[in-house]
Amino acid sequence: AIQIKDLHKSFGSNEVLRGIDFHVDDGEVVCVIGPSGSGKSTLLRCVNRLEEPDSGQILVEGVDIIDPETDLDAVRSRIGMVFQQFNLFPHMNVLRNLTVAQQKVKGRSKKEAIEVARANLEKVGLGGRENVYPAHLSGGQQQRVAIARALSMDPDMMLFDEPTSALDPELVGDVLEVMKTLAGEGMTMMVVTHEMGFAREVGDKLVFMDGGVIVEEGDPREVLSNPQHERTQAFLSKVL
Ligand code: ATP
Ligand code: MG
Repeated sequence: AIQIKDLHKSFGSNEVLRGIDFHVDDGEVVCVIGPSGSGKSTLLRCVNRLEEPDSGQILVEGVDIIDPETDLDAVRSRIGMVFQQFNLFPHMNVLRNLTVAQQKVKGRSKKEAIEVARANLEKVGLGGRENVYPAHLSGGQQQRVAIARALSMDPDMMLFDEPTSALDPELVGDVLEVMKTLAGEGMTMMVVTHEMGFAREVGDKLVFMDGGVIVEEGDPREVLSNPQHERTQAFLSKVL
């Protein structure tokens, strides 16, 4: 679970997060929407400390990750992250992309790492593609490899930052399908997305951010069909 209390973050004089409070319970899928520049990625990046928050509290599985005493590597190894740009290692084939961190960070043997990798490649529908290099895969396949790579670390939760925004429209569905399967298996997920259909169907909660604050949150079907705030209404009228 993730609990965030009064989180603030500025870049210079630009206050990007202005007091964020919310939580993601175990097994919950929380989707985050909002206009460009509203602070969605910054929020996600604070959760695994890719950004240093200025103040506030972030508890991941009860551990305060802003506390300087906290072992960041240990926290990060439990949080899988998937970005808009797939960030695969271009000089490694698919299998190696999935095994390298398992061996280095998790201390797994090569044999065990390969077994885990193969199981996760099957899961994302890419069994049999293990010897291919990323450049020879479609964007949707690369993103599914990135998801399989994150899963191979056995994370407690997954963070997704617009995982389908860089994809051609016909490739989006396969990636969303994999995410939906994960959600169905009870994975705790925080998903920044423009895919309102996914948010409606798979999300347990929808959070609308604007200007560094959470303007509105609730049941996705409620928020999407009956937004309470003017800013939510204005945003949704542009994207729906
Ligand atoms: P988008 O939908 O375009 O991805 P976003 O909601 O994810 O937008 P952020 O990327 O969190 O927004 O950015 C919020 C604000 O913080 C923007 O004004 C951005 O320019 C600024 N910002 C983000 N990262 C940095 C950084 N590393 N240094 C300086 N400013 C940054
Ligand atoms: Mg972003």
